[in-house]
Parts: sequence; C-alpha cells; structure tokens
Amino acid sequence: MLYIGCHLSYSKGYEAMGRQALEIDANTFAFFTRNPRGGAAKAIDETDAAALRELLDKNSFGRLVAHAPYTMNACAADENIRRFAREAMTGDLIRMEATPHNYYNFHPGSHVKQGVDVGIKLITEQLNECLTAEQTTTVLLETMAGKGSEMGRSFDELRAIIDGVELKDKLGVCLDTCHVWDGGYDIVNNLDGVLEEFDRIIGLDRLKAIHLNDSLNPLGSHKDRHAKIGEGQIGADALIRVINHPKLKNLPFILETPNDIEGYAREIKFLRENYSE
Ligand code: FE
Ligand code: FE
Ligand code: ZN
Repeated sequence: MLYIGCHLSYSKGYEAMGRQALEIDANTFAFFTRNPRGGAAKAIDETDAAALRELLDKNSFGRLVAHAPYTMNACAADENIRRFAREAMTGDLIRMEATPHNYYNFHPGSHVKQGVDVGIKLITEQLNECLTAEQTTTVLLETMAGKGSEMGRSFDELRAIIDGVELKDKLGVCLDTCHVWDGGYDIVNNLDGVLEEFDRIIGLDRLKAIHLNDSLNPLGSHKDRHAKIGEGQIGADALIRVINHPKLKNLPFILETPNDIEGYAREIKFLRENYSE
C-alpha cells in the first residue's frame, strides 16, 4: 500500500487537514504542531481532533508525520533556546495524544561551535527528559543535509544519539531523500547500498517515515534546497525506485517539495501511477 501525502496547514484545524488530504488523494500527511518559527501553540479542540481521528480511521490512512518547529534546537549553546526546545517538545508530545499512535519528527539541531560530541550529549539529554513511557507517539530524528553545524548529517551521528536514549522504543528515524543526498549518500546510483548502510548502523526497523524530496544541488553539497519531484538532481526515476523499494514501500512518504496544493495533488497522482503493489 502506498501511503503518500504532503505538508498541510493546521490553520483551519485537524478535520480540515483530513478533508484536504482526501481531496488530493493523500492517505497520510504532515503538519506543524505549532508555528514552525516558534511561539505558543493553539489550544486543542477535542471535537475537531475526534473528527479527524474518525476520518483517518474510515479512510484507512497510514500514520501521520507531524513536524516540530524549526526553531527547536536541542543542542543550542544558549540555555534559553534549549529550554524552549524542551518545553516545546514536552508540550507537543502531550498535544500529539489528541491524534494518538502517530509520528513526531524533529531536526536534531545545530551544535554551533560546541562540537559534535556536545551536540550528541545535549540532544540525548533532551530526549531523556521529554520522552515518557506513556506516550503513544514515536519521535523521529530526521536525517539532515549537514548545513553548517547541523547534527544528524550521518547515520553514525543518529546512531550515537539513539544509543544515549533510555526509552528507545519511542524513538525512530525519518529519512529525507534531499537531505541524505546532500549529505553524500548516493540514493540515485546505490539505493541498496545506502539502505544496507542504514541497516548496519541504525537498523531498518527504526526507519519509520520518508520525506520525499528532490534536491536542487549535487550529491554531498550539504545545502538543503528542496526541488519538485523530477526537477532536481535526484530525479523522478530514483524517487520512484525509493517508493517501490521492498524495504520502504509500506512507510509513509511525505512530500516537502516547493508546491502549492495543486502541485502536491499532481505529484501524488504521478507517484501513484508509478507505484506497483
Ligand atoms: Fe524537516
Ligand atoms: Fe524533511
Ligand atoms: Zn530540508
């Protein structure tokens, strides 16, 4: 079963996202749990959340992949930024229980001159503080392009973070095709090899979701500029191989391509036409 969707706006609430997903033939989607640039989160409307739960259930959606705000930096040098990151994650994990048993993806952060080891330590500390045995949400570390001092640029860095976390069954990884390509993993010519490496270092059982994006830049460029499917250096053929790969094909695929809603609908249609059960 192909679970495919895109980023949707939470501005009209939960049920509206579900209805919009149905309109564009999506059966999963992503949304920001709060303003992506930070700030306070809206109060949860329980009736609205219940309406979405029913819609997801009725239409056999795959798991949703919520996204933490970009301003969340678990390994910032500034203590106030780290405190915001912890408070936002703790709050978001409570909010996520309005739509239980889904995914919450976050960028591990940027260590800003403190070094990779301090970065790993601070990120694991945040996770150990925020994850709870009761939560039904799985928190996903996103693979990053390695722009500046961004953490999560290699499978080894993600593995080191996972190793430090106590509640490992609440933790997974979201692989972003643009980011791993920019990070130097050749998913165009050697997808099998990249997945073998992922399996050896992290374990494919931890891979829970895919961000499906083309990239404006070449392999290993560490730039993180997304392109529409087929309009970047990864190309449509390689991305079609990703959605059809036997080790990936049942995961939720989320488009984060530079598109309006019609553009997303076209990409979803194109990918469905190129998927074989
Ligand atoms: Fe992201
Ligand atoms: Fe992403
Ligand atoms: Zn990106």
